[in-house]
Amino acid sequence: MAEHYVPENLPTHIQHFINGKFVDSVGGETFDVLDPVTNQTYATAAAGQKADIDAAVAAAREAFTNGPWPKMKPRERARVLNRIADAVEAQEDRLAEMETFDTGLPITQAKGQALRAAENFRFFADLIVAQFDDAMKVPGSQINYVNRKPIGVAGLITPWNTPFMLESWKLAPALATGNTVVLKPAEFTPLSASLWADIFTAAGVPAGVFNLVNGLGEEAGDALVKHPDVPLISFTGETTTGQTIFRNAAANLKGLSMELGGKSPCVVFADADLDAAIDSALFGVFSLNGERCTAGSRILVERGVYEEFLEKYAARAKNIVVGDPHDPKTQVGALVHPEHYKKVMSYVEIGKTEGRLLAGGGRPEHLPEGNYVAPTVFADVAPDARIFQEEIFGPVVAITPFDTDEEALELANNTKYGLAAYIWTQNLTRAHNFAQNVEAGMVWLNSHNVRDLRTPFGGVKASGLGHEGGYRSIDFYTDQQAVHITLGKVHTPKFGVVEASEIDY
Ligand code: NAD
Repeated sequence: MAEHYVPENLPTHIQHFINGKFVDSVGGETFDVLDPVTNQTYATAAAGQKADIDAAVAAAREAFTNGPWPKMKPRERARVLNRIADAVEAQEDRLAEMETFDTGLPITQAKGQALRAAENFRFFADLIVAQFDDAMKVPGSQINYVNRKPIGVAGLITPWNTPFMLESWKLAPALATGNTVVLKPAEFTPLSASLWADIFTAAGVPAGVFNLVNGLGEEAGDALVKHPDVPLISFTGETTTGQTIFRNAAANLKGLSMELGGKSPCVVFADADLDAAIDSALFGVFSLNGERCTAGSRILVERGVYEEFLEKYAARAKNIVVGDPHDPKTQVGALVHPEHYKKVMSYVEIGKTEGRLLAGGGRPEHLPEGNYVAPTVFADVAPDARIFQEEIFGPVVAITPFDTDEEALELANNTKYGLAAYIWTQNLTRAHNFAQNVEAGMVWLNSHNVRDLRTPFGGVKASGLGHEGGYRSIDFYTDQQAVHITLGKVHTPKFGVVEASEIDY
């Protein structure tokens, strides 16, 4: 194996960032951070406990109550957000190599992440300046208007797939709207999140507005969810974790936004441009190592083109280059962590009993170490199979044939999830009818996953609660207070006057 690339100047210890300072846990707890190519510990990170979350929330609360950030004019905050975007763009190469090293994502796919993260800040900078709210004239009696306000301390809990970019999805709208935040990034991948602190400070974000607590979900994440001074939790991660958070947030009735798991169908009709569909169906499940919430991990193919599709698809899957994430030729890198690798490998074994193995099926022979899985293709998978129903979150795909449009729709909707759907057909009527009836928060017709930041992002069923994206994120992170004022004389029923008949309801 070629020598493994290690970026220069990596930290050996990753700290929290609370009230403008890098700090360790109050009790000194740490956890190990592994490099997914060697599975060796390359750094320790401070493991946040309740005391650390308490300190971070107190700093964020103080910055919200007494600091300038929530009261700044949108244009002033927008200037800071644009400076953040500039700094993120300037670190594109550094960020990509850190992200690749920490997550195992192929370097070519990590490259775009900084630009997408920067774009989130620019987008919300523009949106808050252009933002206006409704005012209503009630003829002859009242004027009503909406007084939009930031809510307070937002708790942001994020997963390990494309960590920096997913953190920006939450940080940008939460900060743009004037909230203060406590970010709890995923424990598998704390490296890139540590860049935010210096970027924010240099851009002029006041101390206490951005706080970062590393740590395990069951410790730091749990304490954040249960903290009474954190009215909002924006969470991206597994459905089962979302359910736990939902229960734990109930005692304090928090605002919740949940972006959860998926098992999205990619439906290929016989009249589709087959080559384009195959390109997209391969990229859709094998890009980002298959560790992608919107992966098209169930492919449904119309019987007339089924065998042709399988043959071409499997041949291409076998050709996918699996290797060191830092090698620009690599298309599938190393899975993030040995625990996750074990989970994905167990589904590969389950798949062998549930479908016909056409490609992959285990570790690539030339890679004896590290969390590598060969792109794995199972055909003839029945809808009640576990690999059809359960999210694997790795480079593993289940393919199933169908005969009619009705059957395709039934199969597409036959999981608990409802995040995305990809549909390939040249028939416009079928495309739109299918799109409107499929149970998915987002649908792509004749396309892989390309997203405009203004569109709603989110899932239905077990894939999520609420939609983020564009003004929907602004709505989540703000209160819309209705203010009513009477013009002229107020007409109030006169309770307590002696003549009841004078009471005019
Ligand atoms: P995860 O649910 O294991 O962890 C996500 C985050 O939650 C981590 O920061 C973790 O520490 C924290 N956490 C865990 N238990 C917690 C608890 N009890 N209380 C509070 N916080 C807790 O998910 P993951 O394995 O990091 O990420 C993969 C999952 O994320 C997949 O299911 C994927 O589909 C989903 N995902 C969804 C989207 C989307 O937008 N819908 C995007 C990316 C990933």
